Amino acid sequence: MHALSVDLAERSYPVLVGPGARHEVGRFLPPSAKSALIVTQEAIKRAGWVDGLNPGVPSELFLIPDGEDAKTLATVETLTRHFANAGLTRADVVIAVGGGVVTDVAGFAAATFHRGTAYVNVATSLLAQVDAAIGGKTGVNLPEGKNLVGAFWQPNAVLCDTETLATLPPREWACGRGEVAKYAFLGDAPTADQPIEEQVARCVGIKAAVVADDEREGGRRMILNYGHTLAHALEGAALSEHHEWDVRHGEAVAIGLLFAALLARRLGRIDEARVEEHRRVIGSFELPTELPPDADAGELLEFMARDKKAQQDLTFVLDGPNGVEPVRGVAAPDVVATLAAMGARR
Ligand code: NAD
Repeated sequence: MHALSVDLAERSYPVLVGPGARHEVGRFLPPSAKSALIVTQEAIKRAGWVDGLNPGVPSELFLIPDGEDAKTLATVETLTRHFANAGLTRADVVIAVGGGVVTDVAGFAAATFHRGTAYVNVATSLLAQVDAAIGGKTGVNLPEGKNLVGAFWQPNAVLCDTETLATLPPREWACGRGEVAKYAFLGDAPTADQPIEEQVARCVGIKAAVVADDEREGGRRMILNYGHTLAHALEGAALSEHHEWDVRHGEAVAIGLLFAALLARRLGRIDEARVEEHRRVIGSFELPTELPPDADAGELLEFMARDKKAQQDLTFVLDGPNGVEPVRGVAAPDVVATLAAMGARR
């Protein structure tokens, strides 16, 4: 078992990575907790990952629906009403068992119930283990956009149980691998040939260090969005009715990583060998690097200009002589030319 920590003074917490980590949950409840509310989804319950989960205090199980559509204020209302009806107090604890949807929603419900109730994340998807469950960003979507309502609320502990990955559907693996590939450019790099437990632990180590440095995303935490500006544009465009793209988040991140490398080379920040390194690493995680066949540079540029990190101008997280960092004021023609070089229509 790997034991790591997110160091945030009085809000510091441990992250355990390894097979069976979920069974350690009882060690991380606040001493005041007299009962626990376990939040999960049907698929995770069916896979058996909440069976035998023993927090050491009386607990109840509550299922939320599956998918991004469940990340709503309505789900938070249902959930917090259930907390109230179950008699949960501010001294008690919420235990989120699932992927990023469960940890985001249950974390946000915990953040707001009684103005802040403790929670523990048991991450069961690769994406949640290396990213979503760590760092205290919780929240839900609005019809107007993803993750528009949320709170920074750090968990008491995160348990990344690699045993649970045994039942993770193949596309969900690809989603997580996109994020793992991202970390390969950010620090003590995970590599595709390491055991999964080692890969997860390395990613957690990088994320924990970045979060400890910049808890509320004032600056450095933005590097965790490496590859994500184009990824969000691809995901946004995929939702429009004139495309039939079946692109998942991790796959979009992989394409976004290569795009970021090509843009950085165009801007003279890195050389061709480093671009090749990006291709090699992304390929080693069995992820795509090609844009969908009918990608349109103008359309993608429009989505990227609307990205919440763009602020006044086009901002990208790019590799360079000082490593990966946010770069403001990128000129639109450089972006379009880079997309065109990847095969997009101009
Ligand atoms: P998800 O939570 O929707 O999980 C994917 C699917 O896999 C679901 O159907 C889930 O029930 C199932 N599943 C999860 N673990 C399983 C297991 N062990 N066995 C069988 N099925 C399992 O998706 P995700 O990729 O984990 O998370 C995506 C969400 O995370 C998005 O909403 C995204 O916005 C959010 N996110 C948050 C942060 C953050 O910092 N808070 C960071 C990245 C992503």
